[in-house]
Amino acid sequence: MSTAAAARASGFALVTGATSGIGAEFARQLAERGHDLVLVARDAGRLEKSAAALAGEYGIGVEILVADLTDAVAIAAVERRAASIVNPVEVLVNNAGFGLVRHFDENSIDDEITHLDLHVTAPMRLMHAAIGQMLARRSGTIVNIASVAAFTPRDTYGAAKAWVISFSRWANVYYRGRGVRVTAVAPGFVRTEFHERMDVTTDGFPRFLWLSAEQLVRSALRDVDRGKSVSVPTLRYKTLVALTRILPDRVTAAGSLRSRESSR
Ligand code: NAP
Repeated sequence: MSTAAAARASGFALVTGATSGIGAEFARQLAERGHDLVLVARDAGRLEKSAAALAGEYGIGVEILVADLTDAVAIAAVERRAASIVNPVEVLVNNAGFGLVRHFDENSIDDEITHLDLHVTAPMRLMHAAIGQMLARRSGTIVNIASVAAFTPRDTYGAAKAWVISFSRWANVYYRGRGVRVTAVAPGFVRTEFHERMDVTTDGFPRFLWLSAEQLVRSALRDVDRGKSVSVPTLRYKTLVALTRILPDRVTAAGSLRSRESSR
């Protein structure tokens, strides 16, 4: 998916969490590049509306898969689509996610497992399903949405996103020579439905750190085109990530804790 090729991109892009925020914007920008789409989320009505709008605006083919990715039966259908050698998925975007507002000890273990399933098990299953047909064709791009929280101690959210980054770094090196590239994207604050769905206020979050989904996805796709293993948007966040490597855990953890506590 180089910039030159991007003008005439072909093949299906499967985007999870495609009805809102970052996923909806990935679907739009990949459609703009010429990809046909497979849109995945739980809300059938929103999926149908998005599919009709994208097909109408960009003249592409759009399939929808209504699936809760934490449900074993539902995700199996998405895995079958990702593995298919008919109209193969050329670009897989593992994006669906949500945040838990409380801390580890305050959450039920069932909520923690659902959270881990959506952020780690689902992307792993879909990558495993897609990688066979991608390697056979010696062509494929996998984009995994992580978070800058992966670089700071931050409950199981940071831990799950760190898994995404660590695995993507390895997979990008290991599979690159066989035609498959893998990029983890580490957004900071992005204006989407994420915080609203957590029912938290974002008033206390520093305003200069917010990005639009449009900015985030443009920057991410630029880094994907360059074959980067990890994409961190903007100099602001690159600086913050660099600082997390030298600051003690109690300082970086306190920063993320403060924004969390002020939002509850
Ligand atoms: P969002 O606007 O709330 O969108 C989340 C998407 O995921 C929706 O399309 C939702 O659709 C889908 N989804 C949620 N649970 C699902 C499930 N069980 N099965 C299938 N689909 C599901 O949030 P967003 O900000 O775009 O989040 C996208 C990704 O970015 C997440 O992985 C998040 O952790 C990450 N991120 C966000 C931010 C931020 O500040 N916004 C920062 C760093 C990282 P349905 O409800 O229809 O299923």
